[in-house]
Amino acid sequence: MKKFDEIINNMRSLFSKTFTHEIGIDLGTTNTLVYVKGFGIVVTQPTVVAVNNKTNQIVHIGTKAKEMIGRTPSHLRTIKPLTNGVISDPEFAHEFLSHVVRAAEEAVGKRFISPTIVIGSPSAVTNVERRAIRHAARAAGARKVYLVEEPMLAAIGVHLPVNEPVANLIVDIGGGTTDIALVSLGGLVTSHHTTIAGELFNVEIIDYIRDTFKVLIGEGTAEKLKISTATLHVENEFQKETIVRGRDLVTGLPREIVITSSDLREALLPPVQDLIKEIRNVIELAPPEVASDVSSRGLVLVGGGALLDGLSHYIETSLSINVFSPDDPLVSVILGTGIIIDEIDRFEHAIIPDDEYSRKR
Ligand code: ADP
Ligand code: MG
Repeated sequence: MKKFDEIINNMRSLFSKTFTHEIGIDLGTTNTLVYVKGFGIVVTQPTVVAVNNKTNQIVHIGTKAKEMIGRTPSHLRTIKPLTNGVISDPEFAHEFLSHVVRAAEEAVGKRFISPTIVIGSPSAVTNVERRAIRHAARAAGARKVYLVEEPMLAAIGVHLPVNEPVANLIVDIGGGTTDIALVSLGGLVTSHHTTIAGELFNVEIIDYIRDTFKVLIGEGTAEKLKISTATLHVENEFQKETIVRGRDLVTGLPREIVITSSDLREALLPPVQDLIKEIRNVIELAPPEVASDVSSRGLVLVGGGALLDGLSHYIETSLSINVFSPDDPLVSVILGTGIIIDEIDRFEHAIIPDDEYSRKR
């Protein structure tokens, strides 16, 4: 009998070694990434779905769906299942997540059986919103869900010493929200979030061009301008020009205009200054030891917004502290999930306990 138990146990352990998969997911308002242990980042897709109005079925996800925004035929609509970091459309968020998990399976050429999923949660969300993220991960097939606060994942992802008794200031500028957090001794000392982020920058560009040139441009055009032409540097050597097409608000007809880096600087300075005020507030409200760590150690800037040309330098001069940004700030959170998967014992305390599970027990 003992022998039989032994055989069963050996088989179980072999089974779990062969078939357990550990994956990380960064479900962002703008972009979703999937990390698979042993493979790295295997999926990067915009968090958008295109849905058939008649059947309510998803016809495209990710890049293909994003390209359709603003130009869908009448039988289709595009939906962003997350707003400001939280799930706003649970049905399509679940389906979207299942699609990206399937895309990850295709990328690595195997099916995930009862995977453990490490997934980020924005810091300042309610328990209900957190539960929605857990449910979405379960709906995508997760057996175990490890929820970790996104600023913590970002800090781990850029190798900050999060478990040490020093404070690290991390600013994650995403699409819908910016998270400003102080991380120390394996936890968040403070966190604050604001909607001054990438999408708002696009809106400011649209408003500026409408007011200055009386031309209306689309969101996609505004984002392209921000990425290709915008800079916060003032020097001439950084100046660029781009021709864009929009609708003339007087004649109602299409019109081409030339937009320069200076135009975009003027459009973006007000929201950037507001964002800096928010960062300053977080530092000012921090305990003295923490504030002193920040002034000596500086600030780490991550998220797609960190790629805005000249932003690091602008924050550095405005706040008189050093600003560091990794080469690819779009992957900091997802790399954090990968490090947690690999070193779960070191980061166990960062995992948010499952309130539902503890209640049931
Ligand atoms: P989220 O975590 O909310 O999904 P991301 O960290 O993926 O967001 O960042 C997406 C945002 O980054 C978008 O608003 C996008 O316009 C912006 N972004 C990406 N690249 C650049 C760039 N080169 N310059 C300025 N903003 C950028
Ligand atoms: Mg993000």
